[in-house]
Amino acid sequence: MKTIVSFLLILITGLSYAQSGRDECIIAKTQRFNRLQKFADINYPGDSKYDVKYYKLDLAVNHITQTISGNVTCNAEIVLPGVTEIYYDLTNPLIVDSVFVNGNITTFTRGSNKLNIALNSTLNVGDNFATVVYYHGTPGSSGFGSFEFSSQNGNPAIWTLSEPYGAKDWWPVKDTPADKADSADFWITVSTSLIPASNGKLMAIVDNGNGTHTYKWKSSYPIAQYLLSMAITNYAQYTNYYHYSPTDSMPINHFLYPGSLNSNITQLNKTPGMIEIYAEHFGEYPFINEKYGHAQFGWGGGMEHQTITSMGGFSDMLIAHELAHMWYGDKITCKDWHHIWLNEGFATYGEGVITEAWYGKTGYDNFIASEMASAKNAVGSIWVQDITQVWEIFNGNRSYAKGGVVLHMLRGIVGDSVFYNIMRAYSEDPNVAYGVATTEDFQAVAESVSGLDLNYFFQQWIYGENYPKYHSWYSKSLISGNTWNLSLLITQDANTNPAFFTMPVQIKVTRAIGDTIITVFNNSASQHFNIAIEGEPISMVFDPGNWILKTHSTIVPVELTSFNAELNNDVVNLNWTTATEVNNQGFEIQRKSSKSNWATIGFTEGRGTTTEQTNYSFVDDISAMTQTNLYYRLKQIDFNGDFSYSDVVNVFLFPDDYSLTQNYPNPFNPSTLIKFSLGKTGYTTLKLYDVLGKEVAALVNGELEAGPQEVTFDASSATGGLPSGTYFYTLTSGSYTETRKMMFLK
Ligand SMILES: [Zn+2]
Repeated sequence: MKTIVSFLLILITGLSYAQSGRDECIIAKTQRFNRLQKFADINYPGDSKYDVKYYKLDLAVNHITQTISGNVTCNAEIVLPGVTEIYYDLTNPLIVDSVFVNGNITTFTRGSNKLNIALNSTLNVGDNFATVVYYHGTPGSSGFGSFEFSSQNGNPAIWTLSEPYGAKDWWPVKDTPADKADSADFWITVSTSLIPASNGKLMAIVDNGNGTHTYKWKSSYPIAQYLLSMAITNYAQYTNYYHYSPTDSMPINHFLYPGSLNSNITQLNKTPGMIEIYAEHFGEYPFINEKYGHAQFGWGGGMEHQTITSMGGFSDMLIAHELAHMWYGDKITCKDWHHIWLNEGFATYGEGVITEAWYGKTGYDNFIASEMASAKNAVGSIWVQDITQVWEIFNGNRSYAKGGVVLHMLRGIVGDSVFYNIMRAYSEDPNVAYGVATTEDFQAVAESVSGLDLNYFFQQWIYGENYPKYHSWYSKSLISGNTWNLSLLITQDANTNPAFFTMPVQIKVTRAIGDTIITVFNNSASQHFNIAIEGEPISMVFDPGNWILKTHSTIVPVELTSFNAELNNDVVNLNWTTATEVNNQGFEIQRKSSKSNWATIGFTEGRGTTTEQTNYSFVDDISAMTQTNLYYRLKQIDFNGDFSYSDVVNVFLFPDDYSLTQNYPNPFNPSTLIKFSLGKTGYTTLKLYDVLGKEVAALVNGELEAGPQEVTFDASSATGGLPSGTYFYTLTSGSYTETRKMMFLK
């Protein structure tokens, strides 16, 4: 199964040029998720009694028996008083053969994925110790392991991928990123048919004369436990160079499967240029005295192992993402997995930096828009609340996309040059460079470089949830000359944490004399700004640079979403609803009948300004009114006296009541009154027929309103005059028809 999955992932990566490095990084990192489930008890964050100074791994990897054997040295300094025992994290399936402390053999016990070691003396703060642990066995687990025995094209392929909790699957380690070793050696012994790629500089290749050779890799820079790695197969090697000065260069060593090197050369050749771009924006490449490199491995993603990224494919954005980790992730490592955005958000932003360098601002804007779309799906805070779940740590929408967007938003606040000053100052800050960091460390650098208090920004975006949903509205008035007052209202939908977002918001104002951008500091849920501006504002664009993760809509001053009237015995119940209100003093309720003009019958106070839906009602007592049709409308009045009318609604007092009454007087000479009532407004005829059925007059022929009606018929004015006699009159409206008889006597 693993081979099929692996093949499919590579295929997808190859086909989808647009797939982001973020996605691929997630793929690689979450494939170890299943394996992690068996460790209910995570010994995190390691033994706090000592500070690791140095690791040396001297391991033989046997691809035939799929086992490892060897020893791991750790030099460390005690940081707590009265220490007689320390522990390393090491999974139980690995068998410990012997342990030495400062050169002397010592006793040890195994706990739950722990190796407890007696120090044979009581050590205090500042004391140093060195241990060597001899062990062997089958590392990690089968399947999606942190230590994988696999194959490619019939050749053995072996790799490690420890992040976040997998280092102890294959070596005794203080399994927390909080404690980096100052340096590390990694000696790897394998069959001479295989080449082991690892971190740092290759110091020597020793032929052991027994069909094996030993590659001696050395990391002289500090390195986190999960970034120590090896990747082993019959690699083909390709080297290009990053020229960091006119006379100096650093090798970039690519270890690819022999069958796939040629087809990837074009992609690999993009690496030096990317390093140049990052060096310009983030500061010099952090491991300049060693190397950068890629080691192809069997998963369709990437893992930023220090100086030697493991790669399942070689898409632009995967190369960019993993390379950015050398600054953010490897040089500066998140102190714990709660702050993983300092790795993944930054590396995601690195993709944007490369995109902008290659494709300009438009390319960058498109990249950010895509990340924002993902970021809006983020659930929970960027600061990872549950770090026992790998999916929670490596959540694409949250740690990657929203984390990257946070940097974009910071850039929007401080501007381009200050932003990159912050990025460089952070990567070079002695408090965190080649060490570990929390969000607060980055915040301190951002504040110190920008001179701004950014606590609101980090609190709401890193520890808060969601994003602002803005509404805005503006009006203008002439102050004097060509100076105008721009009245701007910004409101936000209610959020939980934070209740609302505080952000500087840019507004583009279009004017005949040219566009201008003004910035307002929006720090309440509903806020009104008056801004004096030269030249008449013609239109306004909210956050024209898309610097804020948000939604935005323009407020309709008073948006009436429904208005209806309902007859209930002797009262008419009027109900209406607003979606938004700006400056709304209230509503006059106005009424008219078929025969009267509009009159105000009441007033209901408005809510001033709100984006919350509001329901209103008004009761009109009509018990004293004669039967008629009634019409209602609302006159919405602003505090400044502006007003507008709603649509008209009407009420039929006797709905569905059709009737035709006997004419009066009857008999008549020459005129008579015919009363009738219509249940509904509609096309209506009232016609007069003689006894032979011949139509002699049309008294009504057209649209009539619902309700009571009356017509006076004058027989003397009928065409040619009517003879005395019996006549029939028929009312027809819709499906209603009724006939009555009348008598004309001259
Ligand atoms: Zn990443």
